[in-house]
Amino acid sequence: MAGTESTGTESTGTELDRVRAGDTRALARLISLVEDESPRVRSVMKELLPATGGARVIGLTGSPGVGKSTVTGALVGAFRAGGGGRVAVLAVDPTSPFTGGALLGDRVRMQQHATDEAVFIRSMASRGHLGGLAASTPQAIRVLDAAGFELIIIETVGVGQAEVAIASLADSVVVLLAPGMGDAIQAAKAGILEVADIFVVNKADKPDTQQVVRDLRNMIALTEREPADWKPPIITTVAMTGEGIEELVSRLDAHWSWLNSSGELARRRQARAREEITALAFAALRGRLSAARVDALARQVADGSVDPFQAAEELLNHHAGADTEF
Ligand code: GDP
Repeated sequence: MAGTESTGTESTGTELDRVRAGDTRALARLISLVEDESPRVRSVMKELLPATGGARVIGLTGSPGVGKSTVTGALVGAFRAGGGGRVAVLAVDPTSPFTGGALLGDRVRMQQHATDEAVFIRSMASRGHLGGLAASTPQAIRVLDAAGFELIIIETVGVGQAEVAIASLADSVVVLLAPGMGDAIQAAKAGILEVADIFVVNKADKPDTQQVVRDLRNMIALTEREPADWKPPIITTVAMTGEGIEELVSRLDAHWSWLNSSGELARRRQARAREEITALAFAALRGRLSAARVDALARQVADGSVDPFQAAEELLNHHAGADTEF
């Protein structure tokens, strides 16, 4: 065991150095390790940890077609034009188990940044099991953070529970809507309104934009949010032409200042770590449950000799002392 671990650490060491020096291939390989839930991730994370904490993480979520990648492209452009450092875009798709990495990286709209070496674009899909992305997304954020990216944009597809969970990993959460998509109601159902820091109604060149803004305002008024002195603004954009992007950047900057001055940044980052370790613990626990033991208890519950609560308790107690491999 010790021998295996030291070999892993050595090879990771040089990889990490390369990643820190801006080697995008090495970086892509590290993210693949995370995505594949490789056993090597554990030693990688340990080594990365001291180099993390410097990146600003923006989450962007909304239904397919609402304009996420167009807005992301415009944001990246604005950030780079304003003298910003390296930017990473991580597109996460919780709904499709495997997209083969073609979700965002190959999109034409992002091609404007394809030749900019300071911009790294990568998509990440779940490998099919529930909760996989809950652990791997924060790890990928940590890899990008340690690699020295100043800004990390996490783009999630769709408006649902998984998106809420992933969006809440960011320091600032931007929720995108567009006229004619019935989004406001969907967003309210999924609980995304509670986690949004900034609302963007994109495609403001279309009719009904003001109606969406009004609907949204009404929904927000009905939403229970934790009392805080940040009131999420609603802005309108035409991402295709860049209209409103400057305002989005300035609202994001204002939110960033507020996060830092209010102590909310530390609280959010702790919440992100909490999600991550809980997901890891659950995954480990699931791995520890012996199928034979579960089957035996299931038979007893099914024939009425043991109640399900007692069975669950026995299952947990049975494994409580066992050594866990992550
Ligand atoms: P995503 O699926 O949320 O990433 O959305 P995309 O960025 O791929 O945009 C979906 C479609 O909407 C594309 O055809 C875009 O060109 C178009 N689009 C994006 N922004 C705007 C906008 O502000 N106005 C209009 N009319 N179309 C837009």
